[in-house]
Amino acid sequence: MVDTREPETRNAQRVTIGVLAVQGDFAEHAAMLRRADPGVIVREVRTPKDLVGLDGLIVPGGESTTIGKLLVAYGLEQPIRAAARHGLPVWGTCAGMILLARDIVGGEPDGRIGLMDLTVQRNAFGRQIDSFEVDLPFAGLEQPLHAVFIRAPIVERVGPEAEALATLPDGRVVAARQGNLLATAFHPELTPDTSLHAWFIRSCRGAATA
Ligand code: GLN
Repeated sequence: MVDTREPETRNAQRVTIGVLAVQGDFAEHAAMLRRADPGVIVREVRTPKDLVGLDGLIVPGGESTTIGKLLVAYGLEQPIRAAARHGLPVWGTCAGMILLARDIVGGEPDGRIGLMDLTVQRNAFGRQIDSFEVDLPFAGLEQPLHAVFIRAPIVERVGPEAEALATLPDGRVVAARQGNLLATAFHPELTPDTSLHAWFIRSCRGAATA
């Protein structure tokens, strides 16, 4: 049947999620969002105007130093911070987690968003095991997540404003949440499991209709 409603009405239930696309594995996140929910509108974000009308934003993995420099160069740092402060759901994976954290051990990248009450150590796993995979229970998900760590950071301190969502078997924190902000040290976008992307989409939809 032809939908004769105005486009605004027709899209009322559709969320638009941005993926910061200046460096790193943004294409994998975009593909995962589409797989998790084909109804989601996915937008690559490279300029401040790309942020207009978003219901959520993913800051991907990559190199936090490079992403941070490009955030400054493209004038994205302040608008993303302001939008996150005003409740835009933002999810950072790996380098994205580093950019969301307030305190960094091991070299502070420029251009951080810096809003989560976390202390994060970059490249926390050293050279010997700088990449590894493990199945992790994740608060709010029924099944454990297959977590891929690539030169990953670790959360050394979860401050009172944030809460841990997942820990390694040795107790170290690798995922945290603070209101509308989510950070994971690992890369769900590099696995077939869409559950965390689906969870993020649901929280964006909730924030959009709130
Ligand atoms: N080691 C990178 C950094 O410090 C992060 C790696 C990743 O995003 N996979 O920014």
